[in-house]
Amino acid sequence: MSTYLRLSRVAVLLFSSLVLDTSAESPSMTAPPPISASDNSHTIADISSNTRAQYDALAKVLPGKVLLPSDATYQASRTSYFSKQEEEISPGCIVKPLNTEDVAAAVKALASVYESSHGSAKFAVKGGGHTPWAGSASIQGGAVVDMTSIKAVTLNSDRNVTSVGGGARWSDVYSYLEPEKLAVSGGRAAQVGVGGLTLGGS
Ligand SMILES: Cc1cc2nc3c(=O)[nH]c(=O)nc-3n(C[C@H](O)[C@H](O)[C@H](O)COP(=O)(O)OP(=O)(O)OC[C@H]3O[C@@H](n4cnc5c(N)ncnc54)[C@H](O)[C@@H]3O)c2cc1C
Repeated sequence: MSTYLRLSRVAVLLFSSLVLDTSAESPSMTAPPPISASDNSHTIADISSNTRAQYDALAKVLPGKVLLPSDATYQASRTSYFSKQEEEISPGCIVKPLNTEDVAAAVKALASVYESSHGSAKFAVKGGGHTPWAGSASIQGGAVVDMTSIKAVTLNSDRNVTSVGGGARWSDVYSYLEPEKLAVSGGRAAQVGVGGLTLGGS
């Protein structure tokens, strides 16, 4: 960091609910298998009514972006936290938004199920997944909004404001700014998420 020639004023634009900017990557996503009684690892009988309601509400607005425990991509998300304790939590489903519109749709769907379940269908948000304790960015039996596909970093034309996606890590920011000869004070560990550190850090 000391080699940077000048400091940039970096505004981490915290999206009013969850996301930091409107740009996003578009990795290909595979549609989760339908929930069916013949599914080896996850039968209808296994799925709580809250999970079913959350899955249905999310899949309606974000088809192909909602993962169940029987999906390999679910396991990849569940086991990508910093701590083992957090990885031992099993959400009912995981939604992976690709842009701001997806985040808004997911939150709207989950808020509606939360209301109709009288507050029992809870959800959590995962940024960089670096908070060490269980339940910080995951939720047993609930829905997780996994922000990690939204990690674009952009610099404005005046080169004094940088917008950062809600799932970016500090490594994404540092590696983008360094060639621009700009810097920002962020996490010492570059794998820490921008979202969690900006909202609280430690
Ligand atoms: C090895 C290590 C090094 C660290 N170094 C530093 C350091 O140098 N400086 C420092 O201040 N802290 C440091 N921390 C603490 C770190 O800042 C916090 O744990 C921080 O919350 C991690 O952010 P995250 O996005 O990776 O976490 P997550 O665990 O994903 O999220 C933490 C909280 O923020 C919420 N959240 C995350 N992203 C979003 C989003 N886009 N929208 C809404 N909510 C969101 C989550 O819901 C959760 O409640 C370190 C932690 C570790 C384990």
